[in-house]
Amino acid sequence: MDKIQPNLVLKNGEVYTVDRKRSWADTIAITDDRIVFVGSFADIESDFSSEVEVIDLEGKMVLPGFVDAHSHPSHGMDYFGNINLYQLDALEKYKLEIAQFAQRNPDAPAYRGGGWSDSLFPTVGPSKDILDTIVPDRPVSIISYDGHSLWVNSITLEKAHITQDTPDPDGGVIGRDPETGEPNGTLRETAMNLVESVIPDYSTDERVQALLAYQEMSFGSGVTMTHDAMLDAQSIAAFNRLEADGQLKMRFRGSITMHPDQPIDEQIQNILEQRAQNQHPRFQTNTAKIFVDGVVEGGTAYLFEPYAHRPDFSGVPIWSGEQLLEVFPILDKEGIQIHVHVIGDAAAHIALDGLEKAQVENGVRDSRHMLTHLQLVTPEDIARFQHLNAIGIPNPYWFKIDDYYHKLALPYLGQHRADMQYPMKSFFDAGVVMASASDFPVTIPFDPLIGIQLGMTRSEIGRVDAEILWAEERVSLEQMIASFTYNGAFANFLENQTGSLVVGKQADFVVLDKNIFDMSETEIAETEVLLTNIAGQEVYKSENLNSQ
Ligand SMILES: [Zn+2]
Repeated sequence: MDKIQPNLVLKNGEVYTVDRKRSWADTIAITDDRIVFVGSFADIESDFSSEVEVIDLEGKMVLPGFVDAHSHPSHGMDYFGNINLYQLDALEKYKLEIAQFAQRNPDAPAYRGGGWSDSLFPTVGPSKDILDTIVPDRPVSIISYDGHSLWVNSITLEKAHITQDTPDPDGGVIGRDPETGEPNGTLRETAMNLVESVIPDYSTDERVQALLAYQEMSFGSGVTMTHDAMLDAQSIAAFNRLEADGQLKMRFRGSITMHPDQPIDEQIQNILEQRAQNQHPRFQTNTAKIFVDGVVEGGTAYLFEPYAHRPDFSGVPIWSGEQLLEVFPILDKEGIQIHVHVIGDAAAHIALDGLEKAQVENGVRDSRHMLTHLQLVTPEDIARFQHLNAIGIPNPYWFKIDDYYHKLALPYLGQHRADMQYPMKSFFDAGVVMASASDFPVTIPFDPLIGIQLGMTRSEIGRVDAEILWAEERVSLEQMIASFTYNGAFANFLENQTGSLVVGKQADFVVLDKNIFDMSETEIAETEVLLTNIAGQEVYKSENLNSQ
C-alpha cells in the first residue's frame, strides 16, 4: 500500500467506526484534518517514521465525534453568567439564587436568567409576587428551562403596559389570577414577546462569551457538531464574530426561526440571504425553524384529545394547519430544509400534512426535513415519516419516569398518554432516520453518553428501583450510537464529512475510557470522555489519557 504519512496514530484501541457495516478496528491514523487509515495496526506499522505521535489506547474505545442534532448554543446566556435556576429543585433555592445575583449586580438596570421549572408551580406558573419581594425596583425576566415561558416581576408588566385588560396574543397565554384576571407574572409562548422592549437584549459580547462556554462544555462531552435550532439576527452576528476571531472550533449548522405573524416572503428572502452569507465550513444556516406548538407543561402543546386537566381544551397550534400547507411547499421548493418543533400528536400530524403537500407539489427531493421532540406521535403518523423521508430528532435525555412525569405529564395528559410519551423503537422499526439531541439548555448536562443510556433503559439513572417509561420503545446500543453520530451528520447534510470513522472523512472523534459495548447499559453514563478531536485538532484532553 502507499505510504500514508500520518501525523497522529491511535493504536491498540477498540474503534467502533459506525460505517455502513458497523465494523471495528484497532487503529486509526490521521493526516492533518483527515482520517487516512482505519484498520489493523499491523498493516501500517512499517509505513511511518518514529517521529509520528502515537497514542497507545490500551483498549480504550474510539467513536466518531458526537452530533447534537438540536440544541441552543446561542441561548446559553441564561445559563452562563446570569440568574441560573437550572438544576435547582426548590423554590427556596430559586429565591436564594435570585437574591444573591441581585446582590452581586447592584448596578444592572435589569436582571435576566433562566431555568425555572413548571413542576414547582403546576398549572398556574410562578408568581410575580415572589420576584417583587426580592427585586421590586427594576425589571426581572427569567425564562423557563424549556424556553417556552417567562417569569417576570410587576415592574416588567407595568413597563410593558400589560394589565387585566390586555388580551392573550395569538399563540400565547398571559398567566392570570383566576379570580381577578390580573396578570400573575407568567407569560407563555408568544406572550413573552410583549415584554421584549422592557428587557435589554444581550450584547454580542455576552453572546460570544456564551458560545465559547458552550463549545468548551461540548468538547468535554465529546460533542463535535451541533445544530443550533433557533437563530436570529443577533445570534448569527455572534457566530460571525466567533468565526472572524478564529474561535469557531466546532461544526455548527443552524435554523432561522420563522414567525407566523410576519410576512412570509420577507422571512424566506432573509433565510436565502443568510444562507448565501453564512457559508463557512463550520457555520452554515440552511434551515428554517417552525414552532408548530408549545409544550405540555405550559398547556400549549397541540393535542388530538383534550388535556386531562381541561376537558374542553386540546391546545392551539402556533402555526395553523392551513399556514403549514402553504409555507412548507414554498420552503421545500427553495431548497430550504425545514426544522419543525412538534410536541403534541396533533402538531406532528399537521406538520406531516405540510411535508406531504410539499412532496406532492415539488416531487420527492433530498430535503431531509426534521421533526423534533416528538413527545406524542400516533403510530399512523410514525409510518408517514418514512414515506416522506422526514428525519426524527428525539431527546432521549427525557425518556424516564421522573418529577416531570408525575407532576406535569400525568395531570396534563392522563395515564394513557403519559405512558406513551417519546416513541423511539417504533421510528427505527419504520425505517426512519433518528438523530438524537439534547435541546440544551433544556437538558444540562448534555453528555451524549447519558442520552445513550436513557435511550436504552428509558429509566432514571442511578436508581435501582426506577420505573421504565414505555419499555417496548427501548432501543439498542448500536441504534443509540448511530443516532448521536452518523444520523446527526446525515440530518445536516454532513455525512460525507463526519459522523463515522472512514478514510477520507474529517478526523472528528472521541476516545472513551472504556468500551461501552462491554458493560451493563446502566453504567454507560459514567463512562469518561478522554479525548475529543475535531478535524484532527485536539479540543479536549483529560489528564487520564496517557500519550507516549
Ligand atoms: Zn429546542
